[in-house]
Amino acid sequence: MGNYVLVMDQGTTSSRAAIFNERGERIAMDNKEFNQIYPKPGWFEHDGTAIWNVTLEVSKNALKKANLTGKDISAIGITNQRETTTMWDKETGTPVYNSIVWACRRGSEICSDLIDKGYDNTFNKKTGLVIDATYSASKIKWIFDNVPGTKEKAAEGKLLFGTIDTWLLWNLTKGKVHATDPSNASRTMLYNVYDLKWDEELLDILNIPKNIFPEVKDSIGIFGYADKEWFGHEIPISGIAGDQQAALFGQACNEPGDAKNTYGTSCVPLMFIGDKPVYSEKGLLTLAWGINGKAQYSTGASILTGGAAVQWLRDGLKIIKTTPESEALARSVEDTAGVYFVPAFQGLAAPHWDMYARGMIIGITAGVTGAHIARATLDSMAYQTRDLLDQMEKESGTKLKSLKVDGGAANNDYLMQFQADILNVPVIRPADVETTSLGTAYLAGLGVGIWKDQSELKELWKAEKTFYPTMDEEKREELYAGWKRAVEFSKGWIER
Ligand code: ADP
Repeated sequence: MGNYVLVMDQGTTSSRAAIFNERGERIAMDNKEFNQIYPKPGWFEHDGTAIWNVTLEVSKNALKKANLTGKDISAIGITNQRETTTMWDKETGTPVYNSIVWACRRGSEICSDLIDKGYDNTFNKKTGLVIDATYSASKIKWIFDNVPGTKEKAAEGKLLFGTIDTWLLWNLTKGKVHATDPSNASRTMLYNVYDLKWDEELLDILNIPKNIFPEVKDSIGIFGYADKEWFGHEIPISGIAGDQQAALFGQACNEPGDAKNTYGTSCVPLMFIGDKPVYSEKGLLTLAWGINGKAQYSTGASILTGGAAVQWLRDGLKIIKTTPESEALARSVEDTAGVYFVPAFQGLAAPHWDMYARGMIIGITAGVTGAHIARATLDSMAYQTRDLLDQMEKESGTKLKSLKVDGGAANNDYLMQFQADILNVPVIRPADVETTSLGTAYLAGLGVGIWKDQSELKELWKAEKTFYPTMDEEKREELYAGWKRAVEFSKGWIER
């Protein structure tokens, strides 16, 4: 029998599967997109059954590509798009409604109503989050209010709720296990991250019954066994975490002040802060994972427009043909000639929280060219990252030590150097940039003892390149002060 780990990475647009060996190296992978359902503006759904089928299919394909069978797999790990809400019939296993995707805004009214009734503090103090339709709570409430028969089914104990990890786990175990991990539970806006339980007061406020919720277990450890129907052999499922926390684990961030940033369409910085929760007024507190019977915490949030601004240079302004070309164009000038670009295409999220802000390029004089704008665009990702990291440091009282990076735009060396300069900490790019699935492999491998502990994983983890800060203090703070002024100008542009 081999000692391989199968990772199921269930994302928003596709499901991926990867096989890792004992050295933590990815030896095969497969992925497949599935149908995106947009019933009306702002609404966004997935077919739960399709998600399960596609995830199973790519898992079997990855095994085939690796020339392995189920017998060679010692552990399965699951990572997933977070917050997406599935509810299904316990007896038939059929979803009672499509999965409501994290990005779906249909819960906005439910959330506004909670805020109007003065519940924002109550939720913030218990869940670490600020009330928002992204999280599962308003989606669950919406299903109860709008899907006939769900209340009755719940009253009879026949209705189950799960985030996507829970849904996959339940299917893999053929309905034997209904569980989740702390990282996913903490994105529902119903889990008390201080008391570590589904919060009865919050459930009462929303009139949601407690019996639909999964058991919350450590992220590392055996949740249950995949039925032998799926891979010809029973396999333990021994690691689960939401995608961002899995990436944090995959970046070997497990000492307070270790942080990662994912530079994708949006940017997602997350910092490990340790065993103690620290109150976050801005809604940045999230459980990192559960390990050895205890919960550990992280702080972070999403920057709405990251690499999407570079895509806009390509598709909107048409000053580059491919996004990597932004690097050469930015390097063709010495600075931005005083130009700042605040890419608030959809408003500004944490720490600014201004949904009325809009994108703005400011400081333009006659000599400004596309190259200066390209440079200002890349810089904007670094500045927005600093805005959030400064807030994370302040609220958590934890000093940032270094920033590990992943995502498409982390391949841009100009951006990485500027990021190191503007933060004044080393920026480290790993050899394996697929950190979400790597982290999940680490969790699942630890869960069955392929690896002993996190220090062994730190040995396996390899950096590809480190960018050290070289900018002097005065220059850094002068540039950053300019950015802060620019952000202020972009706020409140859309009239309410
Ligand atoms: P996602 O998972 O969000 O789709 P990816 O991690 O695949 O994102 O990264 C894609 C994003 O990164 C795009 O928005 C793209 O504009 C940006 N990007 C990719 N490569 C580069 C690069 N070399 N320089 C700047 N931006 C880049």
